[in-house]
Amino acid sequence: MDRLTFATVWLGGCSGCHMSFLDLDEWLVDLADLVDVVYGPVVDRKEYPENVGVCLVEGAVANEDNLEQIKLIRARTRHLVSFGDCAVTGNVTAMRNPLHAAEPVLRRAYLDTANLRPRIPQARGILPTLLDRVLPVHEVVPVDSFLPGCPPPAGRIRALLQDLLAGKGSGLSGEQIRFG
Ligand code: SF4
Repeated sequence: MDRLTFATVWLGGCSGCHMSFLDLDEWLVDLADLVDVVYGPVVDRKEYPENVGVCLVEGAVANEDNLEQIKLIRARTRHLVSFGDCAVTGNVTAMRNPLHAAEPVLRRAYLDTANLRPRIPQARGILPTLLDRVLPVHEVVPVDSFLPGCPPPAGRIRALLQDLLAGKGSGLSGEQIRFG
């Protein structure tokens, strides 16, 4: 039987969800026996591959690059997991949404509070444009499972992955679907 292909992706998030994934500690060795890790921050592959079995998506959709990336990921992934509160609700990444635009945030960060050469950075084709509204993943593409938490504790990540490896949908419930 083919091994499950597995990926993780980091969109508009702080990497804390990936840090929690690393907290799986020795179970990562067991996981490595069960899946082929084909894409992620620890894999030196530039393009998201075709036919990925399961992908954990950390972070919200915050810029044009995230938007393009998540559509490609969805098209190439069988089971897409919204991984952590930023992916599930927008959370910290979406705290700028009440301003209704990206421009006031950029102005505050790079002009109002700058001590040296205030300038909003721009580099077409290099720096992706911020979206005016940060979006949770499921507002852009269909999501198969939600894994809340900021970050989701390692035990919760393991429970979900064990369900998926057993060919079941997510069986998370009760405390395991708490935010924060
Ligand atoms: Fe970071 Fe929390 Fe967002 Fe995960 S859910 S990316 S830990 S802020």
